[in-house]
Amino acid sequence: MERTAFRTCPFCEATCGLEVTVRGDDVVKVRGDADDVFSRGFLCPKGVALKDLHDDPDRLRTPLVRGADGELRPAGWEEAFGVIAERLAPLVEAHGRDAVAVYVGNPAAHGLAALLYGRVLIKALGTRSVFSASTVDQRPKEISSGLMFGAPLSVPIPDVDRTRHLLMLGANPLASNGSLLTAPDMRGRLKALRARGGKLVVVDPRRSRTAEAADEHHPIRPGTDAHLLFALVHVLFAEELTAPGRLTALADGIETVEELAQPFTPEAVAPVCGIDADTIRRMARELAAAESAAVYGRIGTTTQEFGTLASWLIDVLNVLTGNLDRPGGAMFTRAAAGQRNSSGAPGQGRGVTVARRHSRVRGLPESFGELPVAALAEEIETSGEGQIRALVTLAGNPARSTPNSARIERAIEGLDLYVAIDIYVNETTRHADVILPAPSPLQRSHYDLALYQLAVRNVANFSPPVLPPDPDVPDEWVTLLRLAGVAAGQGMLEDVEPLDRMVAGELLRRETGDPHSPLHGRDIDELLAEVEPRRGPERLLDLMLRAGPYDLTLADLEAAPHGVDLGPLEPRLPEALRTAGGKIELAPAPIVADVARLRAALRRPVNGGLVLVGRRQLRSNNSWMHNLELLVSGPSRCTLHVHPDDAARLGLEDGVPARVENRAGALEAPVEVTDAIMPGVVSLPHGWGHDAPGSRLGVAEAHAGVNANLLADEALVDALSGNAVLNGIPVAVAPVPAAVPA
Ligand code: SF4
Repeated sequence: MERTAFRTCPFCEATCGLEVTVRGDDVVKVRGDADDVFSRGFLCPKGVALKDLHDDPDRLRTPLVRGADGELRPAGWEEAFGVIAERLAPLVEAHGRDAVAVYVGNPAAHGLAALLYGRVLIKALGTRSVFSASTVDQRPKEISSGLMFGAPLSVPIPDVDRTRHLLMLGANPLASNGSLLTAPDMRGRLKALRARGGKLVVVDPRRSRTAEAADEHHPIRPGTDAHLLFALVHVLFAEELTAPGRLTALADGIETVEELAQPFTPEAVAPVCGIDADTIRRMARELAAAESAAVYGRIGTTTQEFGTLASWLIDVLNVLTGNLDRPGGAMFTRAAAGQRNSSGAPGQGRGVTVARRHSRVRGLPESFGELPVAALAEEIETSGEGQIRALVTLAGNPARSTPNSARIERAIEGLDLYVAIDIYVNETTRHADVILPAPSPLQRSHYDLALYQLAVRNVANFSPPVLPPDPDVPDEWVTLLRLAGVAAGQGMLEDVEPLDRMVAGELLRRETGDPHSPLHGRDIDELLAEVEPRRGPERLLDLMLRAGPYDLTLADLEAAPHGVDLGPLEPRLPEALRTAGGKIELAPAPIVADVARLRAALRRPVNGGLVLVGRRQLRSNNSWMHNLELLVSGPSRCTLHVHPDDAARLGLEDGVPARVENRAGALEAPVEVTDAIMPGVVSLPHGWGHDAPGSRLGVAEAHAGVNANLLADEALVDALSGNAVLNGIPVAVAPVPAAVPA
């Protein structure tokens, strides 16, 4: 007997609706949900692979514990928690709570349980040694948004569906399906933009899929987006093209920006970024003249030396052209859940403060309670007070995903205790002392709490589990609460309900005490009774929806399996602001102070050396989907893109391996000669390198590829955020010397 279930895809930020056909406990077919209010049937090959992930024999279904022989072996849950309890307490006792680090990987942002209960675990551990994938790729945007608008996720979203002009830098949504921009079917949305007479301009060192679909593509020297953006700002002021309109009264610091932009003339910037001065002027004029326009930047603009400045300048342009917070411009999403006002008063908040403390060894800045992951290896390796001696990873693979991953891996090997919550024995978790598996996504409920805050349209969609639970694998929130119990010294909880009720109670204390919350003044016990018998993330989500702006409950979402459309984005200023002054801070002090570094780089000689950039691939999502045959079959895609001129100059041949090296490491990768990459730049996709002994990824091992993060130098970071430089890494490339016959 077949049945159909509807479920949001958990694999990327696009949140596509899936129609899953199930026979018994088996998934027969996955296809796009034609009635999904947001994705309208769109899906990419990764969505189909949800079935393959569920069926993957390498997916863990039982805890693993390292035995006396050094091998990971299956264990019961009590034994696994027992090992953690036995080893964690004395370690904390001897070295303090900061000696236990947590690394939260990217998939955790797509999981309701991991998002809500990961933070409970961190609180129970009481550690300040918190790291996440956010400092691999997006922290600069969170910092610039926090400083300008008051909260890290106050990220202006390009109103792709209504804009007439989209200037996109360092983003390739036709491969990534959107990032810090939740918008299924970007190909369709960008096609529609052009069909209604709008213009798409892409700035990227590569002629990416998105660049190919654009009206204009401007190759740019990696790491110089902030220079280009400042030159656009310069032209707007110089030619009196600024038109902030009603934003003038809402923004502080416009004059400071004008002053800061003065040295960044198109003529000064052109030799740095490789785009000529006339083109820069034309880009600025067209941006200013467009009926509506949005500037949007993604990974190429954040994972570079001036990531925070580039992220800031993108929104400076949106303000100066009057396009922030208006239809067709860059707007703030109004999410159904999880977007509460920290201070209570609409339009004002506490703002954000960055760099309240610094990492012990190198002094990298803290932000939002986390330290940059570029500091993790040295914090483990460097002895002394505060040294990290234990690690908990939540759905992460830092040995492939973070800068100088070879060093990270060596450091992890030297830990006293490593506990992983993961579905695979991957290149990182193979070093764990204990691995606690989570259920398959099809066995969990789903709601994109974080991603709906970044959506191009206001939507909400809840998915109950498609398949019954595996009796041997508790839901992830139960595992996280049990681990939190161990970390808090409460022992191995048999019943997590008292702790879970405490978590729900804490949420409600905040809401009922907030005069601007719909739940203000309500009785906490009564509210908890209203959401009975829900538990775990579903209870929290139900309460958050009730505290949200749309008067929704979880039952409303359960009754709408294709999602609830809450309408197009609407102007939200000044209500959406959370800055202390209740204004858009156009010239926040930490950013203004960092401009000197950018000015100095104007005079830096362009030395003509090669630099490495990454590239996103449609069938891949970081490191964790390479064990699915459906997504990795066919010719290897882990190739080094080299421009024909560079290939000729360096003696590189298509299909023949080249050696790529720098201070951080070296690797060999097959060359793909292509004019899609600009001269002076080479490109490797990230997340590969699955040939590590001891990992249990049978399919991935057969399609190993090479690990681009071997070359990412953890010493190179964006100063304001500590985010690693992953684009524009200096490298030397040469043919692999022929083997000498024995
Ligand atoms: S675009 Fe993203 S959300 Fe949509 S099917 Fe593909 S992986 Fe899933």
